Amino acid sequence: MRILVVEDDVNLNRQLTDALKEAGYVVDQAFDGEEGHFLGDTEPYDAVILDIGLPIIDGITVVEKWRAEGKGMPVLMLTARDRWSDKVAGIDAGADDYVAKPFHVEEVLARVRALIRRAAGHSSSEIICGPVRLDTKASKATVNGAPLKLTSHEFRLLSYLMHHMGEVVSRTELVEHMYDQDFDRDSNTIEVFVGRLRKKLGVDLIETVRGLGYRMQAPADAA
Ligand code: CA
Repeated sequence: MRILVVEDDVNLNRQLTDALKEAGYVVDQAFDGEEGHFLGDTEPYDAVILDIGLPIIDGITVVEKWRAEGKGMPVLMLTARDRWSDKVAGIDAGADDYVAKPFHVEEVLARVRALIRRAAGHSSSEIICGPVRLDTKASKATVNGAPLKLTSHEFRLLSYLMHHMGEVVSRTELVEHMYDQDFDRDSNTIEVFVGRLRKKLGVDLIETVRGLGYRMQAPADAA
C-alpha cells in the first residue's frame, strides 16, 4: 500500500513518514500544495494524508482539484485543533476524514488503515482469504493460525492482493503500489515475489491470469 504525505512541517512530515514505513507502507512525501497536487494527480495512492495549511496551494483547494479531476483516493486531512470551519470545509471539498493537530501518530495510522480498508470494501481490521488472515492493525498475517514470516515486500504484496481479493491485479499496478516514486521499478521482480509468497503461504490462493496479472481468492469463492 502506497501513501502520500503532504505536510510542509518537515519534522511532522518525517514523523508521519517514519511511522507509516514502520507499519509497512510505501511513502512519498510532498512539502507544498503544488507538489502534493501533482503527485496525487499522476501517481496512484491508496491513501493521502493532507495538511490544510500548505504553501502555494492550500489543502482544501488541493482535494477539491483532485475530486474535480476524478481522483477518488481516500484523503485524511490534518486540521488545526480549534478550526471547526476547516474540518467542515475539508469534508465538503471531498476529504474522507480528518485528524486535528496536535495528534498521536497512532490515531493517524488507525484512520489511514480504516480508510484503505473501507475503500477496498472491508469493514473489519482483519481480512480473511480462506486459511489466510491479514491483521491490518498489527501488519501481520497467518496461515491456518500459524504466523507467516514475510519480508516487507512480500507483506505489501499480500496486503495489496488481499485488499483487492477477487480482482485481477496487474503487475504494473502491483509495482505502483509497492514502491515509492524514486524506486527503480522492474515489474519482473513482482513475479519473483509472487513465487516466494506462494511458497510461504503453502496454499494455492494466488492465481496467475495470463497476460493480465494475478488474482487472489478463497477456494470456495473460485469460479
Ligand atoms: Ca502546515
